[in-house]
Amino acid sequence: MAKNPLHCSFCGRSRDEVKILIAGQEGHICENCVEHAREIIEQELMVRDEKSSPSFKLTVKKPVEIKRFLDEYVIGQDDAKKVLAVAVYNHYKRLQQKVNEFATANNDVEIEKSNIIMVGETGTGKTLLAKSIARMLNVPFTIVDATVFTEAGYVGEDVESILTRLLQVCNYDITAAERGIVYIDEIDKIARKGDNPSITRDVSGEGVQQGMLKLLEGTDVLVPPQGGRKHPEQKLIKINTQNILFICGGAFDGIDKIIARRVQTNTIGFNVDKELQENMKKNLLRYITPQDLKAFGLIPELLGRLPVVTHLDPLDAATLRAILTDPKNALMKQYKKLFDLEGIHLEVEDEVLGFMVEKAVEYKLGARGLRSICEGILTDAMFELPSSKETSFTLTLEYAQRKFDKSKLSLLKVA
Ligand code: ADP
Repeated sequence: MAKNPLHCSFCGRSRDEVKILIAGQEGHICENCVEHAREIIEQELMVRDEKSSPSFKLTVKKPVEIKRFLDEYVIGQDDAKKVLAVAVYNHYKRLQQKVNEFATANNDVEIEKSNIIMVGETGTGKTLLAKSIARMLNVPFTIVDATVFTEAGYVGEDVESILTRLLQVCNYDITAAERGIVYIDEIDKIARKGDNPSITRDVSGEGVQQGMLKLLEGTDVLVPPQGGRKHPEQKLIKINTQNILFICGGAFDGIDKIIARRVQTNTIGFNVDKELQENMKKNLLRYITPQDLKAFGLIPELLGRLPVVTHLDPLDAATLRAILTDPKNALMKQYKKLFDLEGIHLEVEDEVLGFMVEKAVEYKLGARGLRSICEGILTDAMFELPSSKETSFTLTLEYAQRKFDKSKLSLLKVA
């Protein structure tokens, strides 16, 4: 039998070696080459798209609008929102000013970067605020935990790997990363361990703070693209941190005593209003200054690079309740949507919300615990209802109490 003369004009495979051969005017193409060509087109288009319209296009709003946006996601915390809105606005304004000045060669006043430090109990919305800001600005955003870092040369991660994560979220687009936001959580955990420098080396405390200085101030930093230690064989990426906004957060347990001491000594000798003093005591964080953070163990050089200090208020019952229902993606809205998708209308009695908040307060679970409480109460319903014919479900107080008592959460009660 004569060999089939037809073959793919691209890879040269004969008719017998391929499944499909598509005829063109003067040649043929096989299914493998079609697939290959499709991949090439896809990649090429993606690169062009990125060049012409970067996926991270900065959208800066006025401080009032920034706050309004934050209001949609975060309940309360008005002081922190205002401070953040102004700091973020100025930061990106500064960025734009640079571009303009570059064009006009007018650069007599340089606006400095305003990295931020937020102090507030865990679960009060620090991360949420930072995350919401990044969402609004549409810039790359990453969260890192200060506790994983150690001074260079010790077991742990180098501080440069903070930037690796930022690079990873924007697919190694260096220009985008250089305008991003980094949220450094648990900054209080790298406080200096004591005033005596002769005790064992403080490689995860002051050493890390020292390491962070150069990141925060705005220089070229060599970043290992895959994170981890800087291996000689790894090609390092140069990133300029001048326009990266760093937001640090921490609970700073016990700092209220430091503030109290300072506030008291400041008022000694004056005839201070007792009522005012009582009010001050209720939320001392409101009076926090860099001086208190220094007394807690942050080194002055680091504080100098974190010029904006703000605080978050502890969440009271009313705030917790609002968190359940008010934010744009509030838990209750999420559950309603989940049920909706099953064709079931979820009705939640008012007392149930009160009950959930009561439990969150009683078990000291805070806002983060609200989700576990909801899960504990609703899991059975979400398990059974999709296989039933029900089209509506009313969550009553009696049902919520029963399910909560049966859930693992009820064992969590702290004495
Ligand atoms: P922090 O960083 O202060 O420890 P988070 O921002 O991670 O706390 O908050 C944990 C969760 O609690 C958030 O994901 C959010 O669902 C909820 N939450 C906390 N505070 C608020 C708030 N003020 N408004 C709305 N939700 C909040």
